[in-house]
Parts: sequence; C-alpha cells; structure tokens
Amino acid sequence: MKSFHVDQNGFYGEFGGAYIPEILYKTVEDLKRNYLRVIESDTFQQEFRKLLRDYAGRPSSLYLAKRLSEKYGCKIYLKREDLNHTGAHKINNALGQVILAKLLEKKRIIAETGAGQHGVATATVCALMNLPCRVYMGATDVKRQHSNVERMKMLGAEVFPVTSGNMTLKDATNEAIRDWCCHPSDTFYVIGSTVGPHPYPDMVARLQSVISEEIKWQLKEQEGRENPDYLIACVGGGSNAAGTIYHYIDNENVKIVLAEAGGKGVDSGYTAATIQCGTLGILHGSKTLVMQNEDGQIVEPYSISAGLDYPGIGPIHANLAKEHRATVLAINDDEAMEAAFELTRLEGIIPAIESAHALGALKKVKFEPTDVVVLTVSGRGDKDLETYLAYNKNTNK
Ligand SMILES: *Cc1c(COP(=O)(O)O)cnc(C)c1O
Repeated sequence: MKSFHVDQNGFYGEFGGAYIPEILYKTVEDLKRNYLRVIESDTFQQEFRKLLRDYAGRPSSLYLAKRLSEKYGCKIYLKREDLNHTGAHKINNALGQVILAKLLEKKRIIAETGAGQHGVATATVCALMNLPCRVYMGATDVKRQHSNVERMKMLGAEVFPVTSGNMTLKDATNEAIRDWCCHPSDTFYVIGSTVGPHPYPDMVARLQSVISEEIKWQLKEQEGRENPDYLIACVGGGSNAAGTIYHYIDNENVKIVLAEAGGKGVDSGYTAATIQCGTLGILHGSKTLVMQNEDGQIVEPYSISAGLDYPGIGPIHANLAKEHRATVLAINDDEAMEAAFELTRLEGIIPAIESAHALGALKKVKFEPTDVVVLTVSGRGDKDLETYLAYNKNTNK
C-alpha cells in the first residue's frame, strides 16, 4: 500500500533527505539512529506525556462550533491548540525535542525563530529544564517582534540578533546551522517545524501527532466515529498540519485541506504560497519546494502573518500536494483577516492570524450538510492584536 509517511532514506516521494555540511554528518547520523528508539522509550514517553498534560494543558479541547457550522452548512469542530501553554501548538514540539536533547545528554540548546513563537516555546522549556538556550533571530525580526524578544529574555534565553542578508528567518536559520557546525557534540538544535534535514520533519511530525491522536478519540466520543470527512490546517513549515493529519494520512477517505499564505495574492510578488509558487530546491538541509529566483537565491516571502512567511515548505506537504493527497489553497491576507473577525464574532475566539488562514479556507470548499470537518486553530490571537487593530482602522470596520 502507498504510504505518505517517511521512507527508509528520509524521503517523502522526491522530497526530503538530509543535505548537510560534512561537519554535521555524524551528529545528524547519531540523531537519525537514536530518535525513534528514544521517542518510543518508556522514559521519554512518561516525561513527555506528563508534561503535555500537566504543563501544556493537554488534551486540548475539540469544540463543536455551532454558529460557525450553521454559517458553512456542515459540522465544524475546532481543535483548540490556542488553549495550550504559550498559546500555540509549538509547545508540543519544544517539550519533545528538549526532553530528547536531555536524554541524549546534550548540554546546550539552540533554536532559530522568525516571529518569535518557536523561540518563546523553546526558551520556556529550557527554563523548565534548566538548560542554557540561545535563540537566533534576524535583526529585522528582533525589531518587529519586540515583545517576544522580551519574553525570551525574561525566560532566561540569550537572543542573538543576526545582521546578515535580509536579517529575517532564513538568515537566523543559517546562523543557527553555523553555530551547530561549531558545537556538534554538545549542542541540540531545536527546529520549530516539519522542515530541516531528515530526521527532523518526521521527528517533529511525531511529536505533534498528539493532535490527531486526540482528535481520534475526541471525535469518537462526540460523533461516534474516529474519522472526519475533512481536516483543515494552515501551513507555514507544516508542523500543526502534520500533527493534525498524522494518524489519518494514509486513510484517503479523510480529505485534507492545507491553507498556505497567499499574502497580497499569489501573482503579486508579495506572497508566501510556497506550494503554488515554489520550485524544487534545497533549503535548510531538505529537498523541497522553495521560493527562489533563477540563481537559486531565496525570494523573501511575504504574509500578514509572521508565522507563515517561511520560504520553504515541509517535504511531507510538498509530497501530499504533488500526489494530490491534499488540496492546497492560498488564502490571501484579506481573506484571513475577514475569517478571523468572523470567528471572533461567531464563537468568541480570537485566533492567531496564522490559524485564520485555515478558517479562510472554509469559504472555498463545497461541504455537504452531513460533512464533519475538523479545523485546527493553531494558536491564539493575543500576539496579533496590533495587526488586527491596524487592519480594522484601515478598512473602517
Ligand atoms: C508557527 C505557527 C504556525 C506555522 O507553523 P507550522 O509549523 O506550519 O505549524 C501556525 N500557527 C501558529 C499559531 C504558529 O505560531
């Protein structure tokens, strides 16, 4: 049977693999050889499960959104990752990777961050575990995401501003990889999404798979069946989507809809719709679709949501799109913002702008009245309040 999970060599169809500098070969090989053994061990599982429950607040609720359902003529359940500690799904991954790092006897944690959400989640877990943490962040992002920088510092992390290139996420990533090359034996690099060299995409997908594990029993409890007709999630690098679909990925009766950030429109030059606009390349150690020019240089992505403007896409999702296992929709800034205001007024939930892209997809799918839809709200909107207010002012709402 065809599977959409990773193969023996770290590939999803033609996407994935581990394209890394020789100096990291042994480190990545060690991780590849050990991650499954450790993650599946009782020691890891006991600590991970306990912290997911008592620290992060899992299980996150699966909430039947009645008024939203009425509006779209089907039954819509929201998977509430916004209710987690630190406000998004990223804590699942950060907890998992830092516990793994500890069990592999690493002494130091590094991470890259764009909007700062992954940096905050990693800094949080490092405070909890008493591990030194350095977060690489583009200098432009340090300015734009000031409050997240302060949160990371308050948590005890060192925020390292990167001044090369455009001073954004790609440059922060390059700098984190450089650090990793200098300290391969004692440092664990916590990657924030289903990107990077194998085994990271598979590892992150497994750590986030608790989302679909819970959807299965929660839907069974409320609907009498494990399988929804649709799963909908937004994609930046792809981790909340990977977690949402993980236990359904090989069951083609469950339709998958992925929402990427269209920005000002896929043809406008201001977009982060990597699956629609990207071409095959290598980014961050992985062969995948990349927003690049003819010389293979990264084209800076744009989206109103800071968490979705990644110039690549997880190899899992590139393959799902290529094989038509998933429908990929580009949701523009305006559509996402409208959807965010709609959810707020219909259900009293202010979503992260990233999550609002998943909500924006609802208008573009033709549902049957009997359809059961599970849509993941990846995070809460507190961090986006200024953007929401500015948008409202400009559109005179
Ligand atoms: C980081 C982030 C995303 C995008 O990352 P994925 O790896 O694609 O999930 C989406 N939503 C929120 C709230 C985020 O913080």
